[in-house]
Amino acid sequence: MRLDRFLSDTTGMSRKEATRALHRSEVSVDGQVVKKGAVHVSEDSCVEWNGVTLTLLGPTYIMFHKPVGCICANDDPSHVTVFSYLDLPNPDKFHTVGRLDLDTSGLLLVTNDGQWSHRITSPKHACEKVYRAQVSEALRDEHVTAFAEGLKLHGDVELTKPAQLDILSENEALVTLTEGRYHQVRRMFAAIGNRVETLHREAIGGVQLDPNLAPGEFRDLTAEEVAQLA
Ligand code: URA
Repeated sequence: MRLDRFLSDTTGMSRKEATRALHRSEVSVDGQVVKKGAVHVSEDSCVEWNGVTLTLLGPTYIMFHKPVGCICANDDPSHVTVFSYLDLPNPDKFHTVGRLDLDTSGLLLVTNDGQWSHRITSPKHACEKVYRAQVSEALRDEHVTAFAEGLKLHGDVELTKPAQLDILSENEALVTLTEGRYHQVRRMFAAIGNRVETLHREAIGGVQLDPNLAPGEFRDLTAEEVAQLA
């Protein structure tokens, strides 16, 4: 890989900034100052920028406990983003696997592997996502049937795919979906005359949110979890 590309991939700096850093003699490869961005570096090269060793991240898979109030975007002028919680040298290379609303908490996956995330979000794979919802109005058995049969959401033509509603108490339920329409859970409850008050994603494709992660905390997925979702 070219040195200027390596610098931008590992630090998030642009190619122009990388060229400037090189011209300012801030970069060394295996102990020698290098000024040319076209120089080739391999996996074994030790690249340092101002004395700090840079490491290229390979495919990376992160489980994040998204708190309420942060947004699933790389940049946002008015909200704190998911990426401000994650300690990534090059956040621009990463994306969230699907999105959660500003007011939704829970399991969010973040990766730099586009093929892997596509398998989770593609409608073809019908990956199950489980949400815990607190709602304003009492839940009844007929709502279980309505979710299973499919609902007509405001503004949509097609009915929702069969979804599972497990009523836990009068105002709390688990919802299992295999699709991911815009604000889907909130709109499904709206379609039965109810309102979501809190929403929390507990699982994706059988991978549960780690109970040891407090809101705002994250960890790498285990190899088993990565494989389970692939
Ligand atoms: N459904 C919603 O309404 N919101 C989310 O954040 C996720 C699913």
